[in-house]
Amino acid sequence: MDRNQQVLPLAFAIVDEETYPSWKWFLQQLSRHVIRGRHGMCLISSRHGGLNKAVREGPDFVSPNGVHRYCLRHVCSNFNSIIKNVVLKDLCWQAGAEYQLRKFNRIMEEIKKQSVKAFAYLDQINKEKWTASHDGGWRCGILTTNMSECINGVLKGARRLPVSALVEITLERTVYYFRVRAIKGHKMLQNNQLWTDFACKMFISWQQKAVEHTVMKYSHAQQSASVVTRRQTGHGMNTHVVKIGNRECSCGKWNQFGIPCSHAKKVCGAYNISVASMVKDLYDLMAYNNTYSKHFEPVQLEDYWDDPISSWSTTLLSVLPHVLVEIKQHAFIMRWIVGRRQEAQQQGDSSIQENMSEEDC
Ligand SMILES: [Zn+2]
Repeated sequence: MDRNQQVLPLAFAIVDEETYPSWKWFLQQLSRHVIRGRHGMCLISSRHGGLNKAVREGPDFVSPNGVHRYCLRHVCSNFNSIIKNVVLKDLCWQAGAEYQLRKFNRIMEEIKKQSVKAFAYLDQINKEKWTASHDGGWRCGILTTNMSECINGVLKGARRLPVSALVEITLERTVYYFRVRAIKGHKMLQNNQLWTDFACKMFISWQQKAVEHTVMKYSHAQQSASVVTRRQTGHGMNTHVVKIGNRECSCGKWNQFGIPCSHAKKVCGAYNISVASMVKDLYDLMAYNNTYSKHFEPVQLEDYWDDPISSWSTTLLSVLPHVLVEIKQHAFIMRWIVGRRQEAQQQGDSSIQENMSEEDC
């Protein structure tokens, strides 16, 4: 994902089928040509056995180099295939998507009350890998691989074509993405934005919400405070603890998104601190523009190729290092088109869908 929470295509591979050897080969190529020793990356994927094994054996997505997280939609689907209960499936989603630990615990207790088997199933999955509340801020708020489905959709018409045509279409559409994003970046710059559209929207929305909160200062030295939210129908009157020095709020959102939540905004106001300075530089607009400022070289007619393979690989690989140079540690999440077979089976499952559009792809 890029700084505007859009899919940033980094690498493609054509394999016979999704098996452990295929994934292992793919991750090795990725490590060698794209990641190249960089640390701080998060891979979100299904729980495909072969992929899990390959990830565990590789250097890039295991601690301390990086992390591996599960797509919550896949977790819920797998859960439902065993438990077969839509109410519990919904609770499973709520538990995984909840940022606050206390609320996560409450939902898990409810699951336990309804089915010990369902609770035991979820309890044996590493919570860091499937819940937002235990994630530690790696996901940047991205819970599923839904967005990678956009790429599946873009390439849908190309799937049954010969490999050379498939590669050509993939390149053409990737070039298109980079071109459109570059234009979009310049527009954001012309609007005098500091950050990408995604960050701006979230910042403004939380800023507006902060008006409704009440703050009680605790320590000026530590810049800590408690914030009480306004009572609303069915919710509100919650107390959150904010520690500006640690860049954290007990609601969990600041840590997850890197953008001060409404509670943090309120506390910044109380201590006369610039809340804008608290936004993580991963949303920096200049860096976003650098990501898409590089260009692909047009591919010559085959007659002019000295070596067909090196011509393609040079074209593709020339851009990738430049893209990655602009992505700072812990600043993006890569998501891959995974579990295509499982996806095909789940296409009818529309109960849990994040908003997707071609614009976001
Ligand atoms: Zn908060």
